[in-house]
Formats: sequence, structure tokens, C-alpha cells
Amino acid sequence: MESVNPATGEQLDSYEDDDEGSVDAALDRATETFAEWRETSFAHRCSLLKRAGEVLRENTNEYAELMTREMGKPVVQARAEVEKCAWVCDYYAETAEEHLQDEVIGTEADAHAFVSYEPLGPVLAVMPWNFPFWQVFRFAAPNLAAGNVGLLKHASNVPGCAKAIEEVFSEAGFPDGAFQSLLIGTDLVEGIIEDERLHGVTLTGSGPAGRAVAATAGENLKKSVLELGGSDPFVVLDDADVERAVKSAVYGRVQNNGQSCIAAKRFVVMDEVYDEFEERFVEEMEALTVGDPMDESTELGPQAQASLVDGLHEQVEETADAGATVLAGGGPMDREGAYYPATVLADIPEGTPADDDEIFGPVASLWRVESEQEAIERANDTPFGLGASVWTEDAQRGEQFARAFDAGCCFVNEIVKSDPRVPFGGVKDSGYGRELSEHGIHEFVNRKTVWVQ
Ligand code: NDP
Repeated sequence: MESVNPATGEQLDSYEDDDEGSVDAALDRATETFAEWRETSFAHRCSLLKRAGEVLRENTNEYAELMTREMGKPVVQARAEVEKCAWVCDYYAETAEEHLQDEVIGTEADAHAFVSYEPLGPVLAVMPWNFPFWQVFRFAAPNLAAGNVGLLKHASNVPGCAKAIEEVFSEAGFPDGAFQSLLIGTDLVEGIIEDERLHGVTLTGSGPAGRAVAATAGENLKKSVLELGGSDPFVVLDDADVERAVKSAVYGRVQNNGQSCIAAKRFVVMDEVYDEFEERFVEEMEALTVGDPMDESTELGPQAQASLVDGLHEQVEETADAGATVLAGGGPMDREGAYYPATVLADIPEGTPADDDEIFGPVASLWRVESEQEAIERANDTPFGLGASVWTEDAQRGEQFARAFDAGCCFVNEIVKSDPRVPFGGVKDSGYGRELSEHGIHEFVNRKTVWVQ
């Protein structure tokens, strides 16, 4: 496996792939460790998790720069990602025991019934490159606290991050086998899911990858959680504070160089404020500082891999060729590295990639709508259902919209974001199951009913 800096095309490092023999040994180690780990106390597991948070904070710059070098995220955002990983470690260190305490159920007076939450065993996480630390920690923190052990198959372009995360846990004092990174391609994933030593699988990534993993998990009756793509609507109502909405719209679209499943991707704006929104939005998208992601002032860095730029541009071209208006950007930049400019499309024809597909890059699509009804129909007119936001000065009106969205995470006057305290996940083609909060830690546990008569 190789890591390549997408800002320069320079090869940074190469790593030896793990083969079937080392995967087998890892599964053995995971099984052995699980037998002991599940018997340890919450106090013990959570103290190690707290320590993992400290290791992250002590090495923030090192991990942030590693992410930036491997996948091009602006370094300021990479530092914030490391801090968020420490937060999720703290969060579960402080709440896991409470989330997983026995739940007493009222039955007949002479019976005692309760639910006990018990770990399942080794769980595989198939993870993407876009938030190479955060996606992994939001899986690992609840599962390690619950008494499970983790195996990571990270995206092939971030092997350095995969190794660094394994080291965080080992430096924090977790036993060998509690969290292992496997440097493998997709060809070995099916065999791991089929293996009787594995008890669950979670994947964050694209629809095709999710379907493949879920099919194998289904055939083998293994629990799965899928966090797939999104094409989140960002709905601006006629009473919105347009200036504030535009600032959030720009950040919501281009954060992480536009490569976020919960980025705002389709901007649905009511007629009364559309012209003002469009003008300011285009102005601010064009004013973004594009540059070296290691530079503190960079707001938009390169796409994570050169090949992604081609796919992104095809989607833009196909939409423009079908009749969309290109208000900003629209073609690869004349500079070294995998850069794509902030792009704004309007007058989007039905059935084009901007209408139907996830656009994973700094490309925004605008729609003008005449009524609330049209706004909600347009917002929900997508195969995806991950997040949605609405912008209005009337909180109650916003709440009604939030209830009407077909999505898992709905926000009023705030961009869609993940937060350890609230559940995160989608409906429709965005997947199933939930991560984070009490809901996330309940995904890979045996909710055991105990009835004592
Ligand atoms: P993928 O979904 O292909 O990759 C995500 C992870 O799944 C990687 O670890 C990948 O491994 C693995 N994977 C891919 N195919 C399979 C398979 N058949 N069986 C088992 N594991 C598999 O994402 P890409 O990096 O290729 O990005 C493509 C598109 O996916 C993006 O443009 C975006 O639309 C979407 N995406 C969504 C993300 C999200 O957060 N929801 C994150 C990343 C991508 P390997 O790297 O070895 O191929």
C-alpha cells in the first residue's frame, strides 16, 4: 500500500500488505483478547479510553499533519478532527457504564426481569479516507468501552493513519488484540466477515461498498451497520437571515474539501430570497483561499486522490451538458495536485448527477422553489437520507421542516454535524443503524433478556 500526497502527487511511504496468514493471526488474537477484555470492569476499560484521548491530544499536530499529507484535508480542520476524536473517547469513558447498565422491566410482582447489554466479540470496521481518524474513533470508542474488540480495514490510501490509530490504542495501554489495523485490500473483507470468529461489521463509505459488505453479512447472519453517502438538502426559507445562511452554506459545502457524507450538497432556496442568496453564495465560493492544505490559511485543499478529480469533473460536465448553468468553477484547475475549484451549478435538469447522485467534492447545486411544499418535496427528492438542514428565523417552522425531512439527522439553523452526544446515521440509500450516543453503543451488544421467577 502506498500513501501519496494529493497536493503534490509525491509518494510519501509504502507499506507491506497483510496477507491471509496475518489476517488469520489477527482474528485469533482478537478472539483471545476478547475473552479477557469482556470480563474487565467499565472502570478499567474507560480509564484506558480516557488515556487514548490524552495520547491524541499530546500528539495533535503529528496526527493532523499525517492526515493532511495522506488525504489533503486543511491542517486546521485536521487538528479539529484529532480533538473531536479525543472528545468521543472522553464521552464514552464518562457515559458507557450508564448507557449499558441493566434495564429493569416491570413484569409480574413475583418476577424480576431486566435487559443486560453484553459485548458480541470481534467487530470489523471498514472505513473511508475522508475523516481518517474520526470515522475510526467513533466506531472504536463505544465498542471498546462496551467490551468488544476491533479490527480495522481502513481505506487503501491512508495506511499511515491506520497504523497511527493502532499505535494510539497500544500507547494508551489497551491489550494486544483489542484494536488491530489490517492493511488489506477489499478482496480479503468477505472472508473476514464469513469467519466464525467475527461477530459484526460496520462500514462507512459508498453505496456499492456498503451493499457488498451487507450482502456478505446477511448471508452469514452477522449484525451490520452502514453509514453510506448523502446528498443533504440545505433549505433556505423566505424569512431566513441570508447572510448567516450563506456563510454556513459555504462552510457546509466545502468543509473537508467538499468530501463529507453530511456536507450540504443541494441548496433549495425560496424565491423571495433566492437572488440575494445566489449572488452572495457565488461571491463567497469564489473568494475561498485555495492552496497547500498544510498552510494555515487554506480553506480549500486538493481532493484526496487524483482519480477522484476525474470522476467529480465527469459529474459536473454531464450536468452542465444537460443544460445546467455553471455560476462558478466548473473545471479542473491549472495547477499541480488533485485540485478542483469551488463550483456552483444552477438550473439543474432532472436526472443529472447533480440531481440524483452524491457529489463528493466542492460542487454546490442550487434550486429555486416557490412554496414550502415545493421546498420539502425537492429536499426529499433524492435516494439518500442522511442529513438535512433548514434556515429560518421561526424556530417552530424550522422544527416542522425537520420533522418532514426523510433523513436521519435534521438541523434547524445549523449545518448537519456529528456530535458524540446525539445519534448519527441515515435512512434510504444512506444506510442503517446509528453511531454515537447511547444508540451507537447499543449496536454491537447482545441485548439479553433475563427473567428471574
Ligand atoms: P469506498 O466506499 O469504495 O471505500 C470505503 C471503504 O470501503 C474503503 O476501506 C474501501 O477499501 C472499502 N471497500 C470498497 N469496496 C469494497 C467492497 N466491495 N468490499 C469491502 N470493502 C470495500 O469509497 P471510495 O473511496 O472509493 O469513494 C467513492 C465514493 O464513495 C465517494 O466519491 C463518495 O461518494 C463515497 N464515499 C462516502 C463516504 C462517506 O463518508 N459516506 C466516505 C468515502 C466515500 P479500499 O480503499 O481498499 O478500496
